[in-house]
Amino acid sequence: MEKIRVTIWNEFRHEKQNSAIAAIYPEGIHKAIAKGIAADDLEIRCATLDEPEHGLTDEVIASTDVLLWWGHAAHREVRDDIVAKVHKRVLEGMGLIVLHSGHFSKIFKAVTGCSCSLKWREQGEWERLWNIDPTHPITRGIGEYFQIPHEEMYGERFDIPSDSKILFLSNFEGGNVFRSGITLERGYGKIFYFQPGHESYPIYYQKEILQIIGNAVRWARPVFFREMQAPNTPALDEIRSKCDAPTTGIVQNVDGSAKK
Ligand code: ZN
Repeated sequence: MEKIRVTIWNEFRHEKQNSAIAAIYPEGIHKAIAKGIAADDLEIRCATLDEPEHGLTDEVIASTDVLLWWGHAAHREVRDDIVAKVHKRVLEGMGLIVLHSGHFSKIFKAVTGCSCSLKWREQGEWERLWNIDPTHPITRGIGEYFQIPHEEMYGERFDIPSDSKILFLSNFEGGNVFRSGITLERGYGKIFYFQPGHESYPIYYQKEILQIIGNAVRWARPVFFREMQAPNTPALDEIRSKCDAPTTGIVQNVDGSAKK
């Protein structure tokens, strides 16, 4: 079986600008995740915001099976035209895994159509993640629950689509609850949002977190890539109904533009 081509995208600013965070992730969050999920069936590369085209050239997007996304302070700096290309590719089949503060990224807002607002608090409390879908491929190897010693609290209400399938439900030391692992399907693409991963704590070294991200990469692997075309299609069978209503015959692409 061919390897899964994984691209780990990271904003990569906190690690360069804050020495305490650099001490946790000296090579960046992306490299920690890349090392943590490394396996024979994965071909992993990284891309970051400050590279030309944010490291997401047409060639990189076209040759990515599953894209991971960590962003926080610079969501607005991500170019809209690149987000549109990533979104189109998700609809065509590319898997997307959005991590932690990526809930406010342009790409997550685009695929959810929601504000993605949530409650938050940064006091280093513990988080307990409950595995409420133990037969799902993403929860494989994870017990009934596990705990993160220190995490930023993300709390409900989390404004996400009502068709989100909940895999993990969390409670925090301070009393809040959160849908911490959810899946969505958009077009032919599979999407997983996973809440843990505040930059101030070494969360992307914890074995359960890496296990879940690795499982999610394999789950989100495309079955195929297929362009959305909105084809005008001939009838399979003879149509005998008589109808004199006018036809407008506008042939459109999926973005609403006229087909040539
Ligand atoms: Zn955070």
